[in-house]
Amino acid sequence: MSPLIELDDVTLRYGRRDAPALDGVSLAVERGRPLAVVGESGAGKSTILRLLLGLEAPTSGEVRAEGRPLVLRDRRLMRGFRRRVQCVFQDPYASLDPSRRIGAIVAEPLRSLGLARGAEADARVADALERVGIPRDAAARFPHEFSGGQRQRIAIARAVVCRPDVLLADEPVSALDVTTRVAIVGLLAELARDEGMTLVMVSHDLAVVAELCDETVVLDRGRIVERGATSDVLGAPRDPVARRLVEAVPRLDG
Ligand code: ADP
Repeated sequence: MSPLIELDDVTLRYGRRDAPALDGVSLAVERGRPLAVVGESGAGKSTILRLLLGLEAPTSGEVRAEGRPLVLRDRRLMRGFRRRVQCVFQDPYASLDPSRRIGAIVAEPLRSLGLARGAEADARVADALERVGIPRDAAARFPHEFSGGQRQRIAIARAVVCRPDVLLADEPVSALDVTTRVAIVGLLAELARDEGMTLVMVSHDLAVVAELCDETVVLDRGRIVERGATSDVLGAPRDPVARRLVEAVPRLDG
């Protein structure tokens, strides 16, 4: 079976003269094999995420979804793709529009992808809120009424409301305090398991990666310098950059 998403020898250059943000990167998101992309700031992690989300096209190389090249201007193809691949961002304060009610925020993917409206959308929103541990009557309230951890749960509800196959998470717990971090990591693990979603996590936090991802790719200045089973990469890193990241591990339990 083809991988859910795959980058095949992808190079991406933002400016014509700049050094490439990614240089000959190949990786595959296989169903049921949660993947971590780790690296220091500027390594190219967010760029990988943007490619996996279909927000950016490579300068050379190819991005494929279930074996088919991803063509960003093919609107029908991209609508199907966007239902299957959703994302949770780092900052739950910036990612929820303060002027909209939780119900409208969580319903947004259903609306923009034309999947459900009216009473059906309301029911799916209530169900998504319940799955992330937020009472369904939260739909009528506004983001400022919730804590950082609750907001991240709401952002996760928005990501899972259309039942994606892949959940991308960009440093999903780095903005949260330690106790909340543990709870959100637990929630992500539980959702991935119960709903058959494959997680792809971008992080510099190796403690979180070890908890959630079977496989790890280490990125340095746009190139993959190490990859393998997370336990091997974290247990015995060979590349100096990987070693440096492992030595700097912040512990999940404080
Ligand atoms: P990370 O997420 O690992 O911090 P990024 O993917 O954001 O790394 O960045 C990789 C490289 O690409 C960096 O050198 C960064 O400065 C550059 N870069 C990222 N986004 C842009 C952009 N929109 N325009 C120009 N350069 C960019």
